[in-house]
Amino acid sequence: MKPAPFEYIAPQSLAEALDVMDQYGYDAKLLAGGQSLIPVMNFRLAQPAVIVDLNGVSELARLSANGDGGLHIGAMVRHSQLEHSPTVAAKAPLVAETMPHVAHPQIRNRGTIGGSLAHADPAAELPAIMVALQARFRLQRMGGERWVHAVDFYQALFTTALEPEEILVEIVVPPLPAHTGYAFHEVARRHGDFAQAGAAALVTLDKRGVCREARLVYLNVGNIPVQTQEAAAALVGATPTPDLIKAAAQTAAQKEIDPAGDIHASADYKRHLAAVLGQRALQQAVTRAKESWAS
Ligand SMILES: Cc1cc2nc3c(=O)[nH]c(=O)nc-3n(C[C@H](O)[C@H](O)[C@H](O)COP(=O)(O)OP(=O)(O)OC[C@H]3O[C@@H](n4cnc5c(N)ncnc54)[C@H](O)[C@@H]3O)c2cc1C
Repeated sequence: MKPAPFEYIAPQSLAEALDVMDQYGYDAKLLAGGQSLIPVMNFRLAQPAVIVDLNGVSELARLSANGDGGLHIGAMVRHSQLEHSPTVAAKAPLVAETMPHVAHPQIRNRGTIGGSLAHADPAAELPAIMVALQARFRLQRMGGERWVHAVDFYQALFTTALEPEEILVEIVVPPLPAHTGYAFHEVARRHGDFAQAGAAALVTLDKRGVCREARLVYLNVGNIPVQTQEAAAALVGATPTPDLIKAAAQTAAQKEIDPAGDIHASADYKRHLAAVLGQRALQQAVTRAKESWAS
């Protein structure tokens, strides 16, 4: 199928893009990598009157580490850049390690972090990873900006805190506490397919091996990324033994998610995956945190 007719505007600066969005708002759609928007338009599930192409806005393609150890990622940074950048590997290794799970190399060459986060597909990896990393998003409109925490950005299925005139311009990933281990695990029918479910874990250990902080976030077991509370809390203040980790992941799978079945996996199977993947992710994160004390 072909998309419905639309007007095409290609701003060459962020100021110009904000001006266009201010003018067209709800009638406009931003074009980033086009890997989700174009198929949706071809199926006529979206029929925007105006396409605002961000590919000429070089301010949005910057990636840098700042003085406090955080990582600043422009919305137009491509998935492949996140995958291969030494800066990302050093500052946010969870991101670098997750990227090979996102689609295929051709799609990663075009797809952008901003596009993935704004599209808010519950099966996408980056939204869940950004919630796990407690990232903050900078949303800009003509004459103003606001910061939103990743966890507050996701509101419902394919629905975010973005207003029609706003552009997601930057993502800031704060540094992790010292001696934090990380891990991401997912199950997909074929490598590169959207995951049936996935889990990201971060665990901070003190030098006696006691857990000081734990985060466990799931993708594709709900309409938005699911940040567990009870499962993570069960580890804090304790020595995370394999039995404790297994019990925490079971708690998450049985009490903290409410997956709906889809054509790729039943609700029961997703619950099973959540227990297995949560356990794997937490265990690997604990192992890495321990290794950080040994090195
Ligand atoms: C075959 C296939 C397999 C895929 N598999 C996976 C997978 O396994 N995991 C995964 O996570 N993704 C997967 N994807 C999606 C891919 O990662 C896309 O790159 C991503 O979802 C959208 O990014 P994009 O840059 O292409 O955005 P676009 O398609 O250009 O835009 C997506 C949406 O975000 C909006 N938008 C874009 N940029 C901004 C911005 N800066 N501010 C506000 N709104 C904005 C657009 O208006 C649009 O509504 C797959 C895609 C395909 C085609």
